[in-house]
Amino acid sequence: MTVPAARIVFDADDRAAVAAAVAESLATGALTLGPHTERFETAFAAAHRAQHAVAVSTGTAALEIALRVVGVANHDVVVPSNTFYATAAAVVHAGGRPVFADVAASTFALTAETVEAVLTPSTKAVVLVHIGGMITPEVDAIRALCDRRGVALVEDAAHAHGCSLDGRMAGTFGLAGAFSFYPTKVTTSAEGGMILTADTQVRDEARIYRDQGKGAFTANHHVRDGASWRLSELNAAAGAVHVQRLTEFVKHRRGVAARYTEALAGIGALTPLTEPPGAVSNFYKYILLLPAGADRARFKAEVADRFAVRLSGEVYDLPLHKQPVLLKYANGSLPVAEDVCSRHVCLPVHSDMRDDEVEQVLTAVTTVSREMFG
Ligand SMILES: *Cc1c(COP(=O)(O)O)cnc(C)c1O
Repeated sequence: MTVPAARIVFDADDRAAVAAAVAESLATGALTLGPHTERFETAFAAAHRAQHAVAVSTGTAALEIALRVVGVANHDVVVPSNTFYATAAAVVHAGGRPVFADVAASTFALTAETVEAVLTPSTKAVVLVHIGGMITPEVDAIRALCDRRGVALVEDAAHAHGCSLDGRMAGTFGLAGAFSFYPTKVTTSAEGGMILTADTQVRDEARIYRDQGKGAFTANHHVRDGASWRLSELNAAAGAVHVQRLTEFVKHRRGVAARYTEALAGIGALTPLTEPPGAVSNFYKYILLLPAGADRARFKAEVADRFAVRLSGEVYDLPLHKQPVLLKYANGSLPVAEDVCSRHVCLPVHSDMRDDEVEQVLTAVTTVSREMFG
């Protein structure tokens, strides 16, 4: 049997709960900005011990809104180069200029040093991305640097549902945290996004932006250049059900990751990204560095063709400063980002992964690694 790259887990009970909630919305006609959205916001905030949550249409919208609230138009915004296109695209959509920074190979994340290296007098925000669900212990030093320079820290926590560092939850380290509920993320509403914040002004501004920049729900006075970034009630209903599984999903995923890490410890050629002290990852991605110069395409093809194991997508294979549409913002080489982008793979981790699937992945990866790298 094939181990798929990803599996979306809505069990029969959850499917029934979503169906009932959707039926209720259709019956009442409350199809947007209604009770399911409020329920989803409350539950997601509680799961992250955050004060406020604002549900929006996508993770990209969540980022763009946070950056618009900061006011990044015509300013520089620091982003890591090894992130999803949307991190930089949100900066551009908000009228800012992405400035790419390098990262640490041990966390795939920005450091205070790599951020400081690219700060300019025009920097208005730094977007820290918790790649794979790992929150870097550098987050406090990055926050302190931002505070000193009068720069806002925004988290792209699309990967980091339920993750923490020293008991502090993803989405609570900066002015705002942006989450995505795209289907492959650890919890999903099919499509959707969420902004977490402790700041009531950020919350109120985000609510204005998501609904066409209207000053009030029922008014037609547009006070911000918002857009239709609302989440539908049908999506919110699915998200509100799924978020109830977050703790159990994270626990299961961490169990899978622990088995991978233990089994791979004896394979010298492979370097898994492990949790820094104090960090609790959801292992949205289980990241493994291959040796320098390794033929990643061949590695992936061998485990797929011979062992029916589909590795999940990289995070990410082409850094943003080399993406065709972002070349105009490129600011020189970023050696660590380029290196880690070129030679990591991600092992499949599912929220309901079975033992036999874990074994199949390990057999595939250890066999191919020994053959290719000795
Ligand atoms: C998924 C993702 C996003 C965007 O989320 P959408 O909901 O697809 O808009 C942003 N940043 C990162 C790092 C992501 O993985």
